[in-house]
Amino acid sequence: MILAVSTLKIPSSPAGGYRGRFAPSPTGPLHAGSLAAALGSWLDARINGGKWLLRIEDLDTPRCIPGADQQIQAQLLACGLNWDEEVVYQSARQSLYQGALEQLNRLKLIYPCHCSRQAIVNRLADLGIQAPRNQEMVYPGTCRPDTLVANAVDVLEGSQAWRLALPHNCLIEFKDLTLGPQSQNLNTQVGDFVLRRSDRLFTYQLAVAVDDATQNISHIVRGKDLLSNTARQIYLQNQLGYLTPQYRHLPLVLDEHGEKLSKQTLATQIQTQDAKHALAELRKAAHHLGLRGLPDGEHISIAEWLMAATQAWGVTTSS
Ligand code: GLU
Repeated sequence: MILAVSTLKIPSSPAGGYRGRFAPSPTGPLHAGSLAAALGSWLDARINGGKWLLRIEDLDTPRCIPGADQQIQAQLLACGLNWDEEVVYQSARQSLYQGALEQLNRLKLIYPCHCSRQAIVNRLADLGIQAPRNQEMVYPGTCRPDTLVANAVDVLEGSQAWRLALPHNCLIEFKDLTLGPQSQNLNTQVGDFVLRRSDRLFTYQLAVAVDDATQNISHIVRGKDLLSNTARQIYLQNQLGYLTPQYRHLPLVLDEHGEKLSKQTLATQIQTQDAKHALAELRKAAHHLGLRGLPDGEHISIAEWLMAATQAWGVTTSS
């Protein structure tokens, strides 16, 4: 199966107009990398006369840090990156994810999986495949039944993971607005992926597909570290009958070792205690996004600087 987004219904001008979003996980305050993603998506929404939404992705509760959501919001506001609608928290949307899982279950597209991580490593070893360290493994299909069935709804609540059963040759193609044509073979690069974990937490892939659709997101502008998730999300959108938004993946901010900045690697938080510091952080983020020729004087307000940055973003992204 080849699913090319060109053959899907893409909302070139969706009913709600341009709707973008920034979707941080509250695992810590914003760092230079997450600010660049926030700024890029904010500028893209503003130059397109669109809305910019803030969604707190607090599903993976063991990784969330209490208060980080408030810190992130304060940092965004200090940088003048205001959002247009009420902040959405994924933790309050479990019933939507459950509904999507039940829909996929009725379509006979999911199956329970009891494999531990080690069991997957062992199975891959039996197949002569060395599991990559610190990376996702391609699921070898150990628990996949020969015949997929619609399970009783109460079975979905059990303490097993639920995986999406992919069709053969599931090649997803899409065009990224910055990076151009992209493709991923989900069978060979991902395998049947988890929608609900054995600890009953819904996964990022399912939640983001549901949220982007229910929030009518037309444009997803985010860091390139998320590029490898996009094909999965497009495939899920397709199975759930959702429209596929446009995607633009932004360059990553790397540390001095060439590693992606992340809260896990304890990247330092941006300094936004006053307008001077916030503007300095915005300038670094804009430089990182490739924006040049922005006003560099000391006496410009953040609002004026953001206006100039919005124009510059328009020029950069239209060329
Ligand atoms: N919550 C994800 C993160 O903080 C971003 C999700 C997305 O933009 O799709 O990395």
